[in-house]
Amino acid sequence: MARVLIVGAGPTGSLCAALLRRELPQRPLRIVLWDKARGAGGRMTTSRSPHNPRCTADLGAQYITLRPAYALKHQSFYEDLLAHGVLKPLTAPVEGMVMEEGSHNFVTPQGISSIVKHYLTESAGADVFYEHHVTQIYLRGGKWEVCKKTGSPEQFDIVVLTIPVPQILQLQGDIVNKSSEFGPSVVVHTSVPFGTAHLEWDKEKVQPIILDHLENIMPGLPKPTSIKCQKWRYSQVTKAIPSCPGQMTLHIKPLLVCGGDGFTHSNFDGDEVPIKCAAYPKSGATRNKQPVPVKGRKKRVLERIQVDIQMYISHVTRFVIS
Ligand SMILES: Cc1cc2nc3c(=O)[nH]c(=O)nc-3n(C[C@H](O)[C@H](O)[C@H](O)COP(=O)(O)OP(=O)(O)OC[C@H]3O[C@@H](n4cnc5c(N)ncnc54)[C@H](O)[C@@H]3O)c2cc1C
Repeated sequence: MARVLIVGAGPTGSLCAALLRRELPQRPLRIVLWDKARGAGGRMTTSRSPHNPRCTADLGAQYITLRPAYALKHQSFYEDLLAHGVLKPLTAPVEGMVMEEGSHNFVTPQGISSIVKHYLTESAGADVFYEHHVTQIYLRGGKWEVCKKTGSPEQFDIVVLTIPVPQILQLQGDIVNKSSEFGPSVVVHTSVPFGTAHLEWDKEKVQPIILDHLENIMPGLPKPTSIKCQKWRYSQVTKAIPSCPGQMTLHIKPLLVCGGDGFTHSNFDGDEVPIKCAAYPKSGATRNKQPVPVKGRKKRVLERIQVDIQMYISHVTRFVIS
């Protein structure tokens, strides 16, 4: 039976465990959660008074906001939490609260950690261990060996880290070697209209615009140690050559074949290698099936390629920060 370790029993870890159970009911998985804290919740933690356990306070997250962008995608999660009484619409006015139009706020009558506890219950049979502080992770014989502050290391087939990124970066072992060697990097792809509009601009002028925008959407991003700005002049095919799935034969003897995404479409499975075509001249039977380009046709074909290549306008500026 495959052993899955989820590190962190906050909302992400607990939901991950519940979804693994829900989505893979037939799969024999042993799901284990380890958290360094003494209880579940993470930053969605609820503290209880030592004098009266019914007196609680949410120390981290206070309420949950459903934004219009996620309304449809996450609807079933909210319906489930509302049906189980974990969430309740926030009706009390909150001084100074700015509400995005179409968003809804919810509170948790039994404390914010009840969301996490709900998902832990839904993860039916997952083994949750507290005071298990992960310190090192090693790759040993095709499995992950995970060490904690106390106790012996254990082996798992899959490890899911749901701990905050600065804490991931503190982990030692095989994952730290990789990250210190290569460092984390961020790739920013601009939109197609942006790339098209700035195609002829100097990279030095485009770079600060992209960096400014990045700073706005990710204000806490650490200062980059290096930046590489790449302009893809021929990035995506906007109009593939028609009637030539996968390849185009320009000449039979000697064989001259064109292939690539221009003859299909721009993604990995579109990058066909024209193998069929390369094999063709060896077999007479196949040769008869292949349209033989005549002189006039060959000329038209070449003209067509030239015209269509004009349409491969560059439109993605790729930007790597490391
Ligand atoms: C003060 C505050 C107010 C907030 N207000 C709101 C709010 O009103 N609404 C809202 O939606 N969100 C709010 N948030 C954000 C919200 O709490 C987080 O987005 C959410 O908890 C993230 O969940 P997570 O499971 O990814 O991480 P976490 O909740 O941080 O869970 C990670 C878990 O990993 C464990 N862990 C860390 N390192 C290790 C290790 N080495 N080994 C084992 N376990 C480890 C931690 O103990 C923790 O339990 C607030 C957060 C804070 C701090």
